[in-house]
Amino acid sequence: MAKASINTCPVCNGNHWTHVCTCAANEEDTFEVLLCPDCGLVRRSPEATTNGDTGIYAVDGALQATPKNGIISRCYNTLRHTWSRQKTRITEREAGRVSGVLLDIGCHRGDFIAAMRRRGWIAHGIESNSNAREYSNSHYNLHIEKGEMLYRIRPCSYNVVTAWDFIGKTADPQKSFKAMCDLLTSDGTLIVALYNPASAIASRHKEIWHCLMAHTTFLFSRKAFERLAADNNMRIVKEQNNRAMNVAAATACELLRSRYRKQAAALSKGCIEGFKTASKDQYKADNGCYIIYTLKHNTLPQ
Ligand SMILES: [Zn+2]
Repeated sequence: MAKASINTCPVCNGNHWTHVCTCAANEEDTFEVLLCPDCGLVRRSPEATTNGDTGIYAVDGALQATPKNGIISRCYNTLRHTWSRQKTRITEREAGRVSGVLLDIGCHRGDFIAAMRRRGWIAHGIESNSNAREYSNSHYNLHIEKGEMLYRIRPCSYNVVTAWDFIGKTADPQKSFKAMCDLLTSDGTLIVALYNPASAIASRHKEIWHCLMAHTTFLFSRKAFERLAADNNMRIVKEQNNRAMNVAAATACELLRSRYRKQAAALSKGCIEGFKTASKDQYKADNGCYIIYTLKHNTLPQ
C-alpha cells in the first residue's frame, strides 16, 4: 500500500501513515483516509469542518427532509428518540446514580441533555456546530456553550461527563480528552462512545463507511483509545457494543450505497447485518461499530 507522510499521530507520535482509500462524501468534500499502523488510529485528510454538512450530518439532514412519510424517515425519528432514552439509562447505570451534575460534550441538538433534565439531572452541553446550538435553543430552550468552553470550565465540576461521537471531531484529541478528564470529580464517571474503524461493518463497507464518517477527523480503534486513556491516567472499567447503533450504521451504509433509494431494502439489509454483528455468538471485542467506554480516574483504589 502507498504511504503518506503527514502530521505526527496524536496518539502514539508515530510519523507514517498508510493510505486506506479516497472518499468523496459529496461534491465539496473529497478526502484521503489514512491509518496509523502503530496504534490503529484512522484520520481523514484534510480535516473535517465543524459546521460541515457531511458524513452522518448529511444523512441526518436527508432523513429529516421530505418525504416525511418514507419508511426510513419514520424509523429514523423513532430511533433518535429511543436512542436518547437508551443513553439516559446507560448513563445512570454506568455512573451508579440517578441524579447529579452532567456535561455532554459535542451534544449536537441537545436531545440527550433534554432527556437527562426530564429525569432530574442538572445537565449542560458544549457544541461547536452553530446550527445545532440554535436548534437546541429553539426546541428545548437550552443554552449550549460553544466548543472553546471545554477549556475554560473549572476543573472537577461534574459527576458525569459524556462524549458521544465527539473526540474524533476535535483537531487535538489529546488536549480535548485531557480537558474532559479534568472536568470530572475524583469519583466521577466518563462515558465515551466512538465509532470503531476496525469493526466488521467498517471493513465490509470501506469507502461507504468512511463517507458516513466524513464528519469526524479521527476514528479510534480500541487499541488507539486504550492508549489515549492510559496516557491520561484513566481506567476503562467497561466496554459495550451497542446493537441499535450497529443496525443504524449498517442501514446508513446501505442508504448511501443506493443514494437513498430502495429504502425498505436498505432497512432490511441493515437490520440483518447489524443484528448479526451484534449477536452474542458473532460478537468479538473488535466487531462492534460503536463502542461505549466507561472510564474512571486511575487514582481510585481498585
Ligand atoms: Zn498512532
